[in-house]
Amino acid sequence: MFLPNRAFLFLVLLAAPLLVSAKSFTVTGGGSRPPALLRWVKREITVSISSSLYSENANIKYGSDVEGALERSFAAWSQATGVVFKLVRTENLRASPAGNAGDGINLITIAPLSENILLLGREADTVAGATQIFFNKNGVITEADVVLNPLQQFSTDGTFGTFDLESALMHEIGHLMGLDHSPIPAATMFANYWRNGILGLPRTTARSLSGDDLAAARALYGNGESLVCCGKFTGYAADENGEPISGILVWAEEAETGRLSASTATDSRGRFAIAGLPFGRVRVFAGLEGGFWWGKTGSLQTIFVGEYEVAKNAAKLSVIIPNLPGAPQHSIFAGLNGELATLPMPIAAGRTTTIYLGGGEIGGNGFRLGFDSPFIHTLPESAFDFRFENGMKGIGVLIAVDADIPEGDYSIFVELEGGLKAYLPGMLTVD
Ligand SMILES: [Zn+2]
Repeated sequence: MFLPNRAFLFLVLLAAPLLVSAKSFTVTGGGSRPPALLRWVKREITVSISSSLYSENANIKYGSDVEGALERSFAAWSQATGVVFKLVRTENLRASPAGNAGDGINLITIAPLSENILLLGREADTVAGATQIFFNKNGVITEADVVLNPLQQFSTDGTFGTFDLESALMHEIGHLMGLDHSPIPAATMFANYWRNGILGLPRTTARSLSGDDLAAARALYGNGESLVCCGKFTGYAADENGEPISGILVWAEEAETGRLSASTATDSRGRFAIAGLPFGRVRVFAGLEGGFWWGKTGSLQTIFVGEYEVAKNAAKLSVIIPNLPGAPQHSIFAGLNGELATLPMPIAAGRTTTIYLGGGEIGGNGFRLGFDSPFIHTLPESAFDFRFENGMKGIGVLIAVDADIPEGDYSIFVELEGGLKAYLPGMLTVD
């Protein structure tokens, strides 16, 4: 549940520093273009923790549980994949400079050296951190360095306006393992993560891995018990004339629960692969990403690809996206507390939450809000018209969440007149 807090919400729209993302992910070495997949081959990775994280440090709030944040964030990825991290301390402060090869040491540092700040790129004044990967021509990662931004403030107790250290580490360790960003707002690997305090919540970035994170990691490393733990789909997205379409978001949801399993996007030749999927029945969707004023997740004009059994042998899917309209006139946006945001929206089992939707034909005739999960229900009689501060029309509506909903991420869709569906995949999260 959310307590409306206008003061914080106001900040969400107007105080840019609260909105900053942490998106840097740099690959280097091994030639000009990285292979499609980057991964470690060894199953035990030694990571050196710079003394800059432990020493009294103006950038990490005094008394923060640095040791615990490091242990838990590495353990989460380790439990998901069976990859073992050996953490050692070092006096080393400096990440390897960009180039074909590093110094062979995997380092996590927050030392305020110009070389480290350089790795944060042009967004050094806003991002929480950056990870630099060195790899060889076979896509094997040979070194990874994580720079937590020494120009930012971190804490482990939800201090307003700071980055949550554990969440930041979780995200950068994902990069260290070779993962790229996820389009799913509730995923740890979503490009944007948030300072404490946004939407009036003490901490909005989950300290747990979402199904999408697990699938992405297991696609590279297995689940610790088996490299063939998981299933895979490959496919191709094209328009009606057979022309490939890049950047189409493809995702899978568990057929029974509606919980989001994994996502991916088509490459420049329209190809995609979703791997690391738990076995079972899934429903696969594909859609065009809509616009958004800041941030990536707007809405999707979505097609239902089909329902499939996830098996060890990769199934091949073919996705035809009919008649793509150029403008996302059917975009929908979602939010909480009367504001729209590119944020995962936490919902609680056994509770009701008011969600806000805006844009396009929201609130018009023939509009229907829905969920793929049988655990989430709309209370249509609770809906009220609403106008957001930017003038966009929308609605607020109460949704009820069953007490026995499994933890995970769930999609919202809006069905418009003519049967067109716009999705916000993985926008709702149950922790
Ligand atoms: Zn990132």
